Amino acid sequence: MDLEFDRRHIWHPYTSTLNPLTCYPVASANGVHIELDNGRQLIDGMSSWWAAIHGYNHPQLNQAAHEQIGKMSHVMFGGITHNPAISLCKTLLSIVPDNLEQVFLADSGSVAVEVSLKMALQYWHSKGQRRPKFLTLRDGYHGDTFAAMSVTDPDNSMHSLYKGFLPEHIFAASPKVGFHQTWDESDLEDFTAKITEHHQDIAAVILEPIVQGAGGMRIYHPKFLQGVRRLCDEFGVLLILDEIATGFGRTGKLFACEHANIKPDILCVGKALTGGYMTLSATLTSKNVADTVCAGQAGCFMHGPTFMANPLACAVAGTSLELLAQNHWQAQVKVIESIFAEYLPNLLEYELVSDVRWLGAIGVVETKRAVNMEVIQALFVEQGVWIRPFGRLIYMMPPFISQSDHIKALITAIEKALQQSNCFEA
Ligand SMILES: *Cc1c(COP(=O)(O)O)cnc(C)c1O
Repeated sequence: MDLEFDRRHIWHPYTSTLNPLTCYPVASANGVHIELDNGRQLIDGMSSWWAAIHGYNHPQLNQAAHEQIGKMSHVMFGGITHNPAISLCKTLLSIVPDNLEQVFLADSGSVAVEVSLKMALQYWHSKGQRRPKFLTLRDGYHGDTFAAMSVTDPDNSMHSLYKGFLPEHIFAASPKVGFHQTWDESDLEDFTAKITEHHQDIAAVILEPIVQGAGGMRIYHPKFLQGVRRLCDEFGVLLILDEIATGFGRTGKLFACEHANIKPDILCVGKALTGGYMTLSATLTSKNVADTVCAGQAGCFMHGPTFMANPLACAVAGTSLELLAQNHWQAQVKVIESIFAEYLPNLLEYELVSDVRWLGAIGVVETKRAVNMEVIQALFVEQGVWIRPFGRLIYMMPPFISQSDHIKALITAIEKALQQSNCFEA
């Protein structure tokens, strides 16, 4: 593999051309294993960023892709429909909160978020109200496109860089009470103050339910989410839940909002939707929101990507949802969660560790010092695992099919790293 070409000419996520680290060349992936060019097998702890919940190279997902590609890999969605889309949306609507009745299929998570924000803006426009603001939480992450970035944590997404281009929205303090801690009503104080003060300008609240992912891997109390729903109802503000990371079983519930027994007005899903095979996302909403949007001046919802409802992606996604139902994901996730619960607290013995937390198939080790990416990544590979930390967060979200030994191997590798101070910045 021409790694020198890669290093010189190809941008990887959030990387510099001045100081590019060499990437690990992957030849194939199978089950929970990623195989490097040199034959080394790595146990995957990332599910390729929350997505590959059934593991790699899955026979049924492969079959769905092969069958669909033999018919058509893509056809436009304007004025045309097809069974992969219909079948996927039927299944999707049968598993999401039951107030959601309308599906918009989009290309990626960020686009699903853009679509959700546009829906909320068009909803208020139709009602003849000017509501140009969104209310969200600090430490959140909603994607890298402009509107998505505008509701992502201002420091993490470097809002200062894009000042003038980026709309300025309202940020409330992120939840401080953890999922397993005792609830404290004061956690909602700042959010309550912000929505009380600005509600007439706010089109919608957007947040990640229960787990704030890329913005800090924070796992918060369901009562916070219940409070947000109650306040949105009280002030007549729409609630958008971004379940792009949490959706499809990752937190131990099919959707994280089920931990709080609440329903969104608009729901974004992506990442694991196709079982990690290709990019596809969806934004779902209620009949009322959809019809109000379309009753406005535009007469329709103003969005339509070229590759909307790509049949190949829809066919695989539909099959992935069937697999989820057959595979007893609850039991699989419970096994992973029980190993996190048993072994992660031991890591608190290390001086370097400031916190450990877990929920469902998400395990997080927060350290006092930032990782040295090059050194820690090499150590993980040497240990035969694939874990990709960022900053002071070493986290795991393994495929649901992982066996206990795989999870233990991931934790053992993290423990090895904690014993080597050169894995961390000074
Ligand atoms: C990853 C992610 C996104 C963005 O999805 P992309 O497919 O990377 O555009 C949005 N919201 C959340 C919560 C995510 O985890």
